[in-house]
Amino acid sequence: MRSKNYLDQIASFTPLEPQQMVRVALVEGLKPRYENGERQRYRRLLKEYTDVDDDRINALFRIMKYGARTKREAGFLRTLIDDVRYTSGKWKSFEYPSLKKEGVIIEYSGDNQGLVDKVLETDENHAIFVQHPIAEEGKDYLKHIDWRNKMVLNGPDVIIQFAKDRGIEDQLPETFLKYRRPNEVVYKLLEKHGFTYTEALKTAIKVMKTQKYLGRTIAVWAIKNPNGNEFRQHPHDHIESPELFVYAHRYGKPIIQELGDLLTPYGDKYYGLNRFSVPKRVPENEKVFNSVETHYLPDFGNASKKILEWMHTVTECDCGNALNLRNFEDRKGRKAYIVQTFETHAGVVVLEIHYAKGINANESPNNLNPLPTPEFSRFVDKLRYNLAEEIEIRNGEKTKIHRRYAGEIAIEILINELAKKWTAEEMFFPDKKVGTFLLKPMYWPVSN
Ligand SMILES: [Zn+2]
Repeated sequence: MRSKNYLDQIASFTPLEPQQMVRVALVEGLKPRYENGERQRYRRLLKEYTDVDDDRINALFRIMKYGARTKREAGFLRTLIDDVRYTSGKWKSFEYPSLKKEGVIIEYSGDNQGLVDKVLETDENHAIFVQHPIAEEGKDYLKHIDWRNKMVLNGPDVIIQFAKDRGIEDQLPETFLKYRRPNEVVYKLLEKHGFTYTEALKTAIKVMKTQKYLGRTIAVWAIKNPNGNEFRQHPHDHIESPELFVYAHRYGKPIIQELGDLLTPYGDKYYGLNRFSVPKRVPENEKVFNSVETHYLPDFGNASKKILEWMHTVTECDCGNALNLRNFEDRKGRKAYIVQTFETHAGVVVLEIHYAKGINANESPNNLNPLPTPEFSRFVDKLRYNLAEEIEIRNGEKTKIHRRYAGEIAIEILINELAKKWTAEEMFFPDKKVGTFLLKPMYWPVSN
């Protein structure tokens, strides 16, 4: 997560509009990591597109090169950056075709797999404008999601792959292989061989690289509860939760347990009902907290007990997003099954429990919110701060160009395209503390 000022909570959590992305990219281009010719081009463009004096842009260019060396220089740099911050009134409007010619904006019109490559190879001093909507328009990727657009973490494809990897494929019952519905025998086998959440995730990311999934758009991860309910995860929340968790801890927004006793070493053995108050990212109507209720969380500190508890977990949050994603699915007209989502706030609760109990979230085999690596965090940041859709809208004779940031669904789809290329270890389970790389100052030159 990148921000110009983390003290401003609302701004820190508000997505950037495409013209703001270009502004940030232009300033980014002065940083020392870019080669000199390119830095000079960006200096010229900053002079062209802002009302800031040339002298000040030159000073910014100079100090950015080494970073501020004295306190006085740091103060000066701060005011220079303030001139060109993305909310500054000193910006002029952009000539987009010209910025494309200058190479600041990169047009892209291929498929999503190619877009992932483009994002990976593009530095933060560019904006990528995709010439079509990234998610197929008119398709429901949020509530009533087609089964082909889901990756089921405990579905038959993952279970069979896990059994193959463990050399226990011949112990899977015929009926399961035929009807593809796990039964008690299958669950016993999975339990015996340590099919934890982490193992399921690693296996699922492997399965996503097989022919069957390569051509599919994956919009969500699902966990099938043996009672028929569905529990969904969106891997972008696996980034947003630790970001919010780190933010809450650094900026004095406590996560409060309201019901249950999960935070003390002698707390509940039975991981039943718990309710937590979690700070909102952006306060709504003066509401600054959300309430998260959980049932059947795995015993994070003791993975050998109830290994499959993660398949029974239920989380409910009272934020608009979670309530919107909760729905009732009718299957074959017989029974309504409930779909619930493990979203950002529920993820924060899981991380808080790990933190309070001193359990290493990185090594906890049933951590439902595995921590992102710096590389994965950087990839998602580029989706949020460097990627926009640029779409031509025809209205009778006239055409208008509409530019918008890539929304959550598009980001989710692209993360899943990344999972078709990267291993689980490249995406999750970093070997350094996440707090040191999750919150990145947007403009400060040397610290990142
Ligand atoms: Zn929520």
